[in-house]
Amino acid sequence: MANPTSQTCPICGVQIIPGGVAGDRVIFSAGPQGTRAKLWARVCQYNKKAGCINEQGKTENISADDYYKDTPFSNPQ
Ligand SMILES: [Zn+2]
Repeated sequence: MANPTSQTCPICGVQIIPGGVAGDRVIFSAGPQGTRAKLWARVCQYNKKAGCINEQGKTENISADDYYKDTPFSNPQ
């Protein structure tokens, strides 16, 4: 069921659902839901393209657990 208030980042292709006081939720293509900080740590920081709707992610609290532990996500250029 589509959430009408969700946004999908045109750069990262990841869906973000505004979550009010609990914070926004990010729907990854695989694995559990995460936060904007996790999205930035895992995806957005590697894309570095204009138009990413998660620019604020890098200013949020990013814990070590938010990063991929093994192979970081990257796009072949
Ligand atoms: Zn993004």
